Amino acid sequence: MTITSIADHVDEARKDLEEGVDRAERPTSVSVVQEDLPEPLQSRLDDFDEALNRTPPPEKFPESASYPTAPDVAAIARLLIEAFHPHLEDETIVYVYRENLTRAGEVTHGKVTQASGRYRERFGVDWFVDINWTSWVGMRAAARIRLVDHELSHLVEESTADGSPKIVSRRHDVEEFVEIIRRWGIEEGTRQEELARTINQLELFAPA
Ligand SMILES: [Zn+2]
Repeated sequence: MTITSIADHVDEARKDLEEGVDRAERPTSVSVVQEDLPEPLQSRLDDFDEALNRTPPPEKFPESASYPTAPDVAAIARLLIEAFHPHLEDETIVYVYRENLTRAGEVTHGKVTQASGRYRERFGVDWFVDINWTSWVGMRAAARIRLVDHELSHLVEESTADGSPKIVSRRHDVEEFVEIIRRWGIEEGTRQEELARTINQLELFAPA
């Protein structure tokens, strides 16, 4: 990706954000129902519906661009930032589709990367969120929103040595193989244990 294409790209992303430009052919729209949303988001149902469908993903991945902007992802992210990630309000995040995304040979639906110094200085971009377009177009509405929430959850606020806050990227809470947990059980005093406890609570409260 050349600097020129990134510059265009960032401009385009800004324009899409401001105007909600519709540059793609409309595929079948996805609709989100209230029960699919976590309680704090239910009152924003119409906003999510609009975010998902106003500028939907292209039906075919554009041949001319490897990093087309993803205005629907950006619109969903804006709502999620307001609800759950207010520390990201001042970050400049550019959302793009990738035709496919893999990590260590496995399909991954999305990823967050910090913009390099060059992009930061020249274009004021802090982060890139890449969304696997192939996965995205096959997802239901709630799964799309959940994925964006997941990607944004990688970005947390930390305080630096001089006490000023800084946004950093974190890894997942729990990284373990299922067979290791089967063999050895849940490791005490770790996020694994916390996750297991949370799952138990959810099961307790789940309707029978
Ligand atoms: Zn992740």
